[in-house]
Amino acid sequence: MKEGLANKSIYRKDYKVYPWDVGQLDLHFDIARESTTVRTEMEFQLKDGEQAKQDIVLNGSELQLESLSLNGSELSGDDYVIDGETLTIPDAPAKSVLKTEVRIQPASNSALEGLYLSGAFLLTQCEAQGFRKITWFPDRPDVMTTYRVTMEADRAEFPILLSNGNQEASGELPGGRHWVRWEDPFPKPTYLFALVAGDLALVEDHFTTRSGRDVVLRIYVESENLDRCEHAMQSLINAMRWDEERFNLEYDLDIYHIVATNDFNMGAMENKSLNIFNSKYVLARPDTATDADFQGIEGVIGHEYFHNWTGNRVTCRDWFELTLKEGLTVFRDEEFSADMQSRAVKRIRVVRDLRSRQFPEDDGPMSHPIRPDRYVEINNFYTSTVYQKGATIIRMYHTLLGESGFQKGMKLYFDRHDGQAVTCDDFLAAMADANGVDLERFGRWYSQSGTPQVHVSDYYDSASRKYKLTLKQHTPATHDQKTKQALVIPFTCGLLTNNGEELPLQLEDETEAGPGTRLLVLEEMQQEYTFVNVPEAPVPSLFRDFSAPVKVFYDYSHAQLAILIAFDSDAYVRWDAAQRMAQDVILEQCHRHSKGQEMRLDPSLLKAFRGTLSDRAADPALLAEAMIMPDEDYLAEQMEVVDVDGIHVARKFIKSGLANELEELFAERYADLNDGLPYQKSPEAMARRALKNVCMSYLQDTQAGESLITAQLESSDNMTDSLAAIKGLVLMDSPMAGKALSQFETRWSEDALVMDKWFAMQAMKPGCDSLGRVRELMKHPAFSIQNPNKVRSLIGVFAMLNPTGFHAADGSGYAFHADRVIELDGLNPQIAARMASAFNRWKRYDESRKKLIKAQLQRIAAADNLSGDVSEIINNALRSDGE
Ligand SMILES: [Zn+2]
Repeated sequence: MKEGLANKSIYRKDYKVYPWDVGQLDLHFDIARESTTVRTEMEFQLKDGEQAKQDIVLNGSELQLESLSLNGSELSGDDYVIDGETLTIPDAPAKSVLKTEVRIQPASNSALEGLYLSGAFLLTQCEAQGFRKITWFPDRPDVMTTYRVTMEADRAEFPILLSNGNQEASGELPGGRHWVRWEDPFPKPTYLFALVAGDLALVEDHFTTRSGRDVVLRIYVESENLDRCEHAMQSLINAMRWDEERFNLEYDLDIYHIVATNDFNMGAMENKSLNIFNSKYVLARPDTATDADFQGIEGVIGHEYFHNWTGNRVTCRDWFELTLKEGLTVFRDEEFSADMQSRAVKRIRVVRDLRSRQFPEDDGPMSHPIRPDRYVEINNFYTSTVYQKGATIIRMYHTLLGESGFQKGMKLYFDRHDGQAVTCDDFLAAMADANGVDLERFGRWYSQSGTPQVHVSDYYDSASRKYKLTLKQHTPATHDQKTKQALVIPFTCGLLTNNGEELPLQLEDETEAGPGTRLLVLEEMQQEYTFVNVPEAPVPSLFRDFSAPVKVFYDYSHAQLAILIAFDSDAYVRWDAAQRMAQDVILEQCHRHSKGQEMRLDPSLLKAFRGTLSDRAADPALLAEAMIMPDEDYLAEQMEVVDVDGIHVARKFIKSGLANELEELFAERYADLNDGLPYQKSPEAMARRALKNVCMSYLQDTQAGESLITAQLESSDNMTDSLAAIKGLVLMDSPMAGKALSQFETRWSEDALVMDKWFAMQAMKPGCDSLGRVRELMKHPAFSIQNPNKVRSLIGVFAMLNPTGFHAADGSGYAFHADRVIELDGLNPQIAARMASAFNRWKRYDESRKKLIKAQLQRIAAADNLSGDVSEIINNALRSDGE
């Protein structure tokens, strides 16, 4: 795909300022599916202080160059040099007007970068480097300019023609054609450019900003989806209001467009005033989308909207700084969701995701700091580390500076940098200067990879009534970095009595006791804290609200965990204690199973579950989270050598043991929650459904399970309940499962998004017959290897969420998956690379599996014309085998 570029690393330290300012970019598109002509006119002005006679360097990829002229004269092949993806015009005059004309082929663009076809319309995806597939231009985020975009096309085929900014003019052309011109007054980098052309329907609403600007809001979808946009529109309005109230940030144009497509590599894209979304994050109706989908839509709509300031108005200097916009914007969308829904539940879900995806990434062959120092293919660095860990680092600023200090820093950041392309150092400086604090050591979080470990030990002296807490930090070496430094780790904690009461806290050098939650800041490798006037040996409540992205080690007894589960004031700590206890118990049974010993159900876990199930005061969504067992992949991460089948058997044993011992309580709670009321979308109703369906997931392991699930399926009026029921039947291997799946298929066969769920629940079903089923499903008419959502739902779910299927001992899952990676690489390297990363944890399996995976990695590495995307992932994985 990218001959000559594979494996060529780009380094952060090599950054050089682009010597030219680009005055304005005039783009003219003559649009057709098979072949679109793009003409540009742009003015290059040498920056002040640059030496005269600089080269003009442009980026382009897969473009058919028709003409190129400089200051009015046509250039011939001798006047410029094309080398790979760059075009260089040597020694250009200090003021140079450049005109280009190229042809591109949208309909045959299967990589979904640049201009491509989706259903009945054409659209663009430019982040990170898709603009170079549209025309020759300096395709880098620090080159910002204003855009004037004129599109002409056949009116019947392309009635809607959209781009960024405001529509300035339009008109008719002979032969049933028409044209439209858009102008965006805000200078922007190429990655925020967007264009949409085709036959789309729209829903419209309005939002009046705090200063009185009337903004037209439009969501464009294919006409059959018009009745599924209400939630997305409401989420957008909520996000606009929230950003004014919480961050004092207003929208800055008169129009805001969202376009939904079924063919998209990512979740959504924040192009200035013309967001393009994977339809998964727009379309929802109670009968087609689950509560998780509704919450996902709210979060992603918010995320892309919030980028208008954190990303678009202030953008990144280069792609190494990606976390500057992504970490910050994920933090903002997490806060938005927390304010809209339940703060505690949102926090737990964020932590679960970070621990099960980012921690393994940071411990594997792709380990990198949130601001990487090198990459081969930037698309491979849209990672959980850059996004989710990046967001927790922004959250640590917030924890250390408080809401008002944090907002002071944000204000200074915008005052200094509005309209600029900047770095994480600039963000840190704004936070430090606005608060008059030194954050230099805190800045290490940007350059150090790996998950720090904090080891906690304690000592209580009953004579002096003193309690000493010792914290030691240690970050294990990672593939990319051998030595690690001490980090600044905010450590929020409390102390409980053995009756579960929270103690007021007083440190040795303080004159009186303060509140029961204390923020300690660990800055050295080891620090000690002595609390005085502690009446008894307390139970430490550690890392409240998950105050840093670290692994915490403290030798909790089950009795201590039980106290935290029942009484702690912090929802995260309660949840974490429940997870720790379940994890201990499951891993112990896994160990017993491997030695041929009988497994047993632990009485303290049983007691904790009994307490949780009987808790009528707490938020049902929190109780649901506490009872969801750690998943198999997370458990696998806790083992030295992963015992794939042992984990599966032990987890299943514990879950069904709890279900059978506590059947009455589960059934009683289920019956209370299963109130038969019509569907409601409120957070309270979602919380009740969450707990109800967790209860059902346990009851599926009991005698009464099947009839209860069937009854739920028959009476359900929403996708959350229906899907939970069908999944239950599939997982329990019920004879009813086949019928339920085929009814679901008949009802939704025309609906791409709902069919994704149908594929996913079958791909997820554990056991050795998984692969045969996945192979069959690939032949289904609704499946397409060209569609990223389908690939993720079937192939991605099999490889990443079905450990017993993917890791089948004969290696069949690995061979199948390697075939898919190679096949996908010829179509869509970005998606192929995502799929290839399923092999990243290969070193953690037994010798026989390691050998099998390594052979597949080598087979992929040897494939013809491998893209830079996939070869970076595969070579890193192989290199982690000791060079
Ligand atoms: Zn983003």
